[in-house]
Amino acid sequence: MIPLLDLKAQYAGIKAELDAAVLETLASCAYVSGPRVDAFEADFAAFCGAREAIALNSGTSALHLALLALGIGPGDEVIAPAMTFVATVAAIRYAGATPVLADVDPETWNLDPAAFERAITARTRAVIPVHLHGRMAEMDAITRIARRHGLAVIEDAAQAHGARMRNRSAGTIGDIGCFSFYPGKNLGACGEGGGVVTDRQDLAATIRQLRDWGQEGRYNHVRHGFNYRMDGIQGAILAVKLKHLPEWTRRRREVAALYDDLLAGSPIGTPAKPKELEHVYHVYAIRHPERDRLAHGLAEAGIATGLHYPRPVHLQPAYAELGRGPGSFPVSERLAEEFLSLPIFPELTPAQQRQICDTLLRLASEGAVKSHAA
Ligand SMILES: *Cc1c(COP(=O)(O)O)cnc(C)c1O
Repeated sequence: MIPLLDLKAQYAGIKAELDAAVLETLASCAYVSGPRVDAFEADFAAFCGAREAIALNSGTSALHLALLALGIGPGDEVIAPAMTFVATVAAIRYAGATPVLADVDPETWNLDPAAFERAITARTRAVIPVHLHGRMAEMDAITRIARRHGLAVIEDAAQAHGARMRNRSAGTIGDIGCFSFYPGKNLGACGEGGGVVTDRQDLAATIRQLRDWGQEGRYNHVRHGFNYRMDGIQGAILAVKLKHLPEWTRRRREVAALYDDLLAGSPIGTPAKPKELEHVYHVYAIRHPERDRLAHGLAEAGIATGLHYPRPVHLQPAYAELGRGPGSFPVSERLAEEFLSLPIFPELTPAQQRQICDTLLRLASEGAVKSHAA
C-alpha cells in the first residue's frame, strides 16, 4: 500500500528529537503558550522573513483573527476563491462578514485576478487569495487591484509554508498571512495548530490580545477575545519540525519533478510549472476527465489518492447561497471534477513513483482504447 502521505515515516525520521522535546515540555508544565511557543514564533517569523509571528490553535482561527484585527465585520464583503477548503469561507462568516466567491484561473488554479476585480462592490473590504496546493496565487496583480480599491489582503497560506515569489515568502506579501499546522500540512503539529505572520505591529498586538481573551494585562479584558492559544507541546514539536522543513520541501520538489517527467506527453494533466515561483507541493494534483475511474483503479492497485477538492464551496449545501448553482464558477467546477491528488511526501521513493505512474498510464490508456472502440 502506498499512502497519500506518510506521517509514520516522518516520525520515524525525527523520533529522538521529537520525543525529547515533548518530554521536556511535559516536565516543564508549560502546557499552554509559554517559552516553547514563544521560541517557535521567533523561529517561524525568521523563516518567513516577517516581523511578527503569532501562534494560534488552528489555521481557521488565524483567518478569523486576521479578519477581526483588520476591523472586518457585519455589512462587509470579503472575496475568496470558489476552489478552496471550506475554512477560508467559514472564517469570513465567523467574523460576521459576507463571503463573495470568485472563480479561479484554469492554469494556476488560484484566484483569477480579473474575476476578483469583477466581484468588488462598494462593500468589499478585503480579499483572501489562497495558495492552493502550495503554489502562490498571482500576488502582484491581486495586491495591485486591492490597493487601487483600498482593500486589505489576507493570504491563506495554510498549504504554502516556505513558498516564495521573487524572494518573498508566502504570507508576507499581504497585510496578514495565515498558516495551518494541521498534522498533514507541510509543517504539521501533532494535533491542531495555526498562526499568522505580519509586518504590521498594530495588527500583531491586536491578534495577541484576541487569542487570549482580549486581555491587556491579566483580567483586564479590552476586547471580545477568544481562547485561540497554542499548546506548549505543539510549539515544541513545531520548533523541531521547522528545522527539517527546508529539506522536506526540497524532497517534495524532487518528487513533483519526477512526476512531471514520468507523466510528460501523456493524457494526464500535470500542474503548470510556475516560472517565478518556488512551489512547495503540499498537493500534487493531476487532471483527467475520468478521474473517478483512475482513482478506483489506483486504489485496487494499493495506491491511495485524494481529492483537493471534489466540490467547490458554492456547491456545498451549507454555502449554496454563495452561487447560483452549477455553472456559477465553471473553472472551479471543472477542476473539482478532474482533480486527483497523487501520493506526495518527502519519504516517497522514485521506485514507488514509477509504480504509481505505470499504473496511472496503463489505466488512462485502457480508457482511451475503450472510448475508441465505442
Ligand atoms: C487546512 C486549511 C485551512 C484550515 O486550517 P485548520 O488548521 O485545519 O483550521 C484553511 N485554508 C486552507 C486552504 C487549508 O488547506
